[in-house]
Amino acid sequence: MKYVSTRGSAPPLDFTGVSLAGLASDGGLYLPQHWPQFSHEEIAEMRGLSYADLAARVMQPFVGEGLTPERLRELTHKAYSRFSHAAVTPLTQLDERQWLLELFHGPTLAFKDVALQLLGLLFEEFLSREDQGLTIVGATSGDTGSAAIDAVAGLDRVEIFMIHPKGRVSDVQRRQMTTVRAPNVHNIAIEGSFDDAQAMVKRIFADDAVTAKHRIGAVNSINWARLMAQVVYYFAASLQLGGPERKLAFSVPTGNFGDVFAGHVAARMGLPIERLIVATNVNDILHRALSEGDYSTGVVVPTAAPSMDIQVSSNFERLLFDVGGRDGAVLAEQLRGFDETRGMRLTNAQREGVAGLFASTRADQDDMACAMRWASEKCGEMIDPHTAIGLHAARAADLPDGVPVVTLATAHPAKFPDAVERATGLQPVLPARVGDLFARDEAFKELPGSYDAVRDYIMEHAA
Ligand SMILES: *Cc1c(COP(=O)(O)O)cnc(C)c1O
Repeated sequence: MKYVSTRGSAPPLDFTGVSLAGLASDGGLYLPQHWPQFSHEEIAEMRGLSYADLAARVMQPFVGEGLTPERLRELTHKAYSRFSHAAVTPLTQLDERQWLLELFHGPTLAFKDVALQLLGLLFEEFLSREDQGLTIVGATSGDTGSAAIDAVAGLDRVEIFMIHPKGRVSDVQRRQMTTVRAPNVHNIAIEGSFDDAQAMVKRIFADDAVTAKHRIGAVNSINWARLMAQVVYYFAASLQLGGPERKLAFSVPTGNFGDVFAGHVAARMGLPIERLIVATNVNDILHRALSEGDYSTGVVVPTAAPSMDIQVSSNFERLLFDVGGRDGAVLAEQLRGFDETRGMRLTNAQREGVAGLFASTRADQDDMACAMRWASEKCGEMIDPHTAIGLHAARAADLPDGVPVVTLATAHPAKFPDAVERATGLQPVLPARVGDLFARDEAFKELPGSYDAVRDYIMEHAA
């Protein structure tokens, strides 16, 4: 399998290359040159596989020659052995139509573990083959950072610098990053928003002074292997709820558009999906883009769902490329315009391309709290603020009769105890496996929101 850039001019890479790469050299994001297809019969035959075996089956076409099928299976079994539920991503039924897909049974209690536990193993595998090291630089609004740090802490060939916006991640999220004491882990807190942190990471990738000395890798969802691993749970949910004979809808709490893009990939591969509902909070650029064609940034409003407090959604570029004719040169031009004015209109082709599969809903503070209360009072389920935004959208969706709606439960409620308690009056309890989080010492470097300060720190501390 070959991977091409959304901006058309970076050289194609194979799976190994794309796993270790960050942004493509032309500033774009890598995507498979074509979508592998599974027939109806092939999908039906996946029924009954364990999660780890299903993962190997769904990902093999993307991995291609990168790993033998046996080695891939070994890695998926190892990656998912650290999950606290045997089904890895179990479903919970809320009412006749509404389901939750629980993606938070990994070590750091958010869906990002599903992809990052595997990515850490892929890094180790490919780097030792090439006898090389990798310096990961990432930006996080909370969950990526903790999941990435957990996945790579203690690895010999990988070093990680994780930048978070100071004061804008929850205490649990911050502690999950800053209490990991491994020599290859560096936490940085900057003054500013997540978008500021993300913009810095993009500059690091393009900074010749840095890349001349270090091989820089990505763990944000600009990394293709992450999205690939997330495609698997769409198949897992479908197979459990009657797929491929029955179509499902998915409601996805969305920030950087990685998780829901994985749903688009599943549909492209042949999984019958009725609708992908993009759920946003009041930071609603994606809702405006999908419903009105208006992709223009506003000011980030901090909310109780910080992983969705995003204005520029990196992976939206992948969707625009894929539905808009896959012309990298034309997309690069459109995005240059966006970079200058911080806004753009989707083309007619792009709007038509998203219209069939995608819908979107924006939830404000009250919608979110209502969804948390409904889940708690009517269904006896505590859900986190991100999941609540997804559930709000799922309940508001206009769908044909008989189509189940699966909301992706992206974080454990105990990651956001204050918001859950405000909405429901109940205090979620941290699972025992992370129980001593508040007793451990923290370590992180505070820096001003200046690119030079962050780059200098990384250059000084990278091995
Ligand atoms: C990262 C995250 C999201 C957003 O996912 P994207 O792939 O960036 O769209 C939603 N909810 C939670 C809890 C997250 O950690």
